[in-house]
Amino acid sequence: MDKYRLRDNMDRIIQRVEDARIKRSEHHIVQIVAVTKYVGPQEIRALYELGQRAVGENRVQDLKAKSEALNDLPLEWHFIGRLQKNKINHLIDLDPWLMQSLDTLELALELDKRLEAKKKRMDCLLQVNSAKEETKAGVIPEAAYDEYLKIIENTKHINLLGVMTIGAHTEDKETIKRSFETTYKIYEALKPHGAQICSMGMSNDFELAIECGSNMVRIGSLFFS
Ligand SMILES: *Cc1c(COP(=O)(O)O)cnc(C)c1O
Repeated sequence: MDKYRLRDNMDRIIQRVEDARIKRSEHHIVQIVAVTKYVGPQEIRALYELGQRAVGENRVQDLKAKSEALNDLPLEWHFIGRLQKNKINHLIDLDPWLMQSLDTLELALELDKRLEAKKKRMDCLLQVNSAKEETKAGVIPEAAYDEYLKIIENTKHINLLGVMTIGAHTEDKETIKRSFETTYKIYEALKPHGAQICSMGMSNDFELAIECGSNMVRIGSLFFS
């Protein structure tokens, strides 16, 4: 992809995030994670050269291949996909900056066991299935608060830092907004328990997500279109 085009896209994204966050509050800070699942190491390197450090991948194999190809750069790798049990050890070895898609207590317990064996820790977010969609991973909103506390109580090597959600899959803005508001409420309730990150918003809905309180957006296609 052309470097100038990438820079244009990035400038535009930053400006839109800036406008959206100021609409919420001058003090509201939003981190942009560039989702790089559509591109190879070369484009990720170009992104880094433009100043982007946080990047996200949704498959352990891709995270491994790309982070190894770019191990000369201080990139912050986020894992945002479904984690299969047989990939847990691989993910631990890759030492991700933030694992955003912890989606069941069961997975948390298994991950914790493997972290214990490897004497490592991992920063994680609990994924919330905010619109209760069958195709999506995550705990249902009604259970999220209790699950979060259970994970804190029952694990020693997982450092829970907040919640992540994917907005409702629909064209209807009100429905999407509701899914963000639901997640933000859970995040607020969890703040006294250490939650600092509310990760929501993608290429098609990040401004709405920020309006609803998101402080981390995961943007992919908009960078590379
Ligand atoms: C792919 C993906 C994104 C980015 O989606 P875009 O619509 O390309 O911005 C964000 N979050 C998750 C979990 C993803 O899988």
